[in-house]
Amino acid sequence: MQRITIAGLGIIGSAWAQNLHADGLTVRGWNRSPKDYPFYEANLAKAVADAEMIIIVVADPPAVESLLDVIVPHLKPGQIVAQSSTISAHWTKLFAQRVEATGADFLEAPFTGSKPAAEARKTVFYLGGTTELVEKARPVLSRLSARILHVGALGSASSLKLAMNLNLALMSEALSESLALARAEGIPDEKFFEALHLNVGRSGLSDLKEPKFRAKDYAPQFSLKHMDKDLRLALETAGALDLPTAKALKSFYDKGMKAGLGDGDFTGMIQLLAEAKAAKK
Ligand code: NAP
Repeated sequence: MQRITIAGLGIIGSAWAQNLHADGLTVRGWNRSPKDYPFYEANLAKAVADAEMIIIVVADPPAVESLLDVIVPHLKPGQIVAQSSTISAHWTKLFAQRVEATGADFLEAPFTGSKPAAEARKTVFYLGGTTELVEKARPVLSRLSARILHVGALGSASSLKLAMNLNLALMSEALSESLALARAEGIPDEKFFEALHLNVGRSGLSDLKEPKFRAKDYAPQFSLKHMDKDLRLALETAGALDLPTAKALKSFYDKGMKAGLGDGDFTGMIQLLAEAKAAKK
């Protein structure tokens, strides 16, 4: 496959589009608000017209739905729509029906790995769909990723993705509260992280986010508003399964969103703890 359209040029879509463009593929990139890339196409219908594969990577289910409203009338058999935004199994199945009714194929393709991973082609894809479709998409997705996991039938990949993000949100909160306590006791960050490196509580997440915590740098790699959306979708997916800590964390994220932290990195939730400490003084 040579003609690829990326619909959504946010943090991830712009990194993927630039990498595919650098590989010499015929890339078209569409975004709701204009972007300054040589491959940018302002008209979404035109952007998907001749594409062999269309990768959608936008914010949330309503955003995906608004793109499909435009794309679906133009889809043809033989085209593949890979849906990479983090949504739930429920939305995935609804969107797949719309795409498949045109004769085009729908691949469920959420992923993990934030901005640095996307830039370094180290995304990890979780795929839901038939083995045949996974194999068709593999040559393109391999250019963007370190690993491709075929999870199972449609819906399974989104549920796994939400489970993974629930774990990350809880881990980040645990790290933040631990760090906030140490800071409140006057322990320098250097000592905190030195101890963490020697402790089983060290994790891939703590290694990735340590520089951001230490520099109090909350520029988004993965934004808080998207983690808030993922917590909501995880709880919706859980249904009757009680996830008490996830519920409590979602209420705390509601505060983060109200405080205007949504566009920053999800590690920025620690700012609420610092504010609470200041208010106590
Ligand atoms: P982002 O930088 O916030 O970009 C969001 C994109 O969605 C932008 O292109 C935005 O367009 C578009 N969008 C939002 N609402 C829209 C609407 N109603 N109609 C059309 N387009 C709309 O997000 P990102 O970090 O690239 O993440 C994209 C998706 O991947 C999300 O579902 C996220 O949960 C998931 N994800 C992200 C990461 C990560 O680390 N960043 C990792 C795994 C999964 P504008 O530019 O016009 O606002």
